[in-house]
Amino acid sequence: MSGIADSSAGEAEDPRTSLLHSLVDQSPALIAIRGRDGEYLYANSAFAKALGVPSESLLGRREDELSRGPLSPHVLRVGGAANDTDVTHTEEEAEFGLRTRRFVVTRFPIRDAAGEAAARGMIATELSPALPQTPDTPTDVPADEQTEMASAEARHAELLRALEQMERLAYTDRLTGAWNRRHLEDAALLEMSRAERHGHPVSLMVLDVDHFKDINDHFGHAIGDYVLVELVRSIRTDIRRADTITRWGGEEFVVLAPDASLHEAEQLAHKLRDRVAESRLSSAGHVTVSIGVAEYQCGESFEDWFERADHAMYRAKADGRNRVECDPLTAFSPDGTRKSKSPIQLVWRNSYCSGDPHVDRQHRQLFDHANHLLQAIIAHAPRAHILEIARVLMVDISTHFADEERLHARIGFPERVAHAAEHAHLLDKASRLFREAGEDLPVAEVFHFLAYEVVAQHLVGADRHYFPYLEDGGDHPRA
Ligand code: GH3
Ligand code: MG
Ligand code: MG
Repeated sequence: MSGIADSSAGEAEDPRTSLLHSLVDQSPALIAIRGRDGEYLYANSAFAKALGVPSESLLGRREDELSRGPLSPHVLRVGGAANDTDVTHTEEEAEFGLRTRRFVVTRFPIRDAAGEAAARGMIATELSPALPQTPDTPTDVPADEQTEMASAEARHAELLRALEQMERLAYTDRLTGAWNRRHLEDAALLEMSRAERHGHPVSLMVLDVDHFKDINDHFGHAIGDYVLVELVRSIRTDIRRADTITRWGGEEFVVLAPDASLHEAEQLAHKLRDRVAESRLSSAGHVTVSIGVAEYQCGESFEDWFERADHAMYRAKADGRNRVECDPLTAFSPDGTRKSKSPIQLVWRNSYCSGDPHVDRQHRQLFDHANHLLQAIIAHAPRAHILEIARVLMVDISTHFADEERLHARIGFPERVAHAAEHAHLLDKASRLFREAGEDLPVAEVFHFLAYEVVAQHLVGADRHYFPYLEDGGDHPRA
């Protein structure tokens, strides 16, 4: 939605935005923007004054509702549909009480984060009152009136540029010029709905600068800032036009890659990681980033999608930084075709291997069983069948947990108590899920629990903490 509509909310306002705001708000021209449902998203003081109401009282109210009253400038409407893309200039008369006033009116589209027309705006400048018509009055428009109209149109072009800039600033990060969160959330929702409708893949990656605090501590905050600016510049040279980079906060960034499957986004992530590691971003010397990648799965929320990428990024940190890690879920083969038999799959990767053959065999088997369950859910298999697969998977998981706890004791894994507590928590949650739900097993919850919490987060997440202790079967981490 239009950034103008809520630019007063949220983060501290950019001084450039407030300057533009006052330019637009204090303009003598009447300015209004209306959204998809005909509701006002913005109205400047002159417009509100013409209607005789405070401008805040207009926000959210429908244009139809207001232009019906006897004293309303009923001709002066933004009008049109939110998705109209044309810019028009017209001369119009509007009635204000007993007076008829003449205006030069410019109507224009307001575009959303993806560049699509999402709202419509209007700028109207009043012309001097027309002279009374006499039989001798020439029918041509007088020269001074032509000048007045031309200057109104020039002023409108200037206001339009200011509005466009306001819109852009509401969506960008002040330091780096990358998009901000608000933009990412808008752009991601749009891509998610495209993925739902057309089945295109879309992936996102979370990038976090490694040991950034040390850069600040050693070289100062200003150099730290400069590193962030250069980092964004460097990433921009490698991403496609349709890809976007957003500053999520601090030294954390998000790249949204439309039309990229997990496999393609992983390749891009490697390219970005390599480029950053090779370049000298500033006098701070070499800087590295850790990247987590996740492909959007139809039906999930933005928060779930983001969280999967964020978890993968934390794995990259835990595994030594300057790395790329992927969440296992994907619906596409490496050649870009949609997997026909099972639209969603947990893909096993070599980086998930612990090095212990027994643990790895069990982990792979759990992946297979979870995939089996996903297939059954997606294929709308009978509930009893889905339940049966889920129960088999649960038995496998509890056997595996018990084996793993014995292994932890043998290798002297220092976090074994906390890890066993996590196992107990997962098993307890599973049995509650089955017991309480009875026959009405909530499929979405079972999917979320097994696929995300058990397989994706625990097996590929928490388990990695003990992998370094496996190699020599002893007490020392491998790294
Ligand atoms: P890790 O590899 O685990 O990510 O370590 P890190 O030091 O990068 O992470 P940590 O979260 O400990 O520190 C992030 C630092 O980033 C702390 C904060 O002061 C700094 N930071 C956040 N925003 C900015 C900014 O806009 N400019 C500068 N110069 N520093 C920032
Ligand atoms: Mg960091
Ligand atoms: Mg395990």
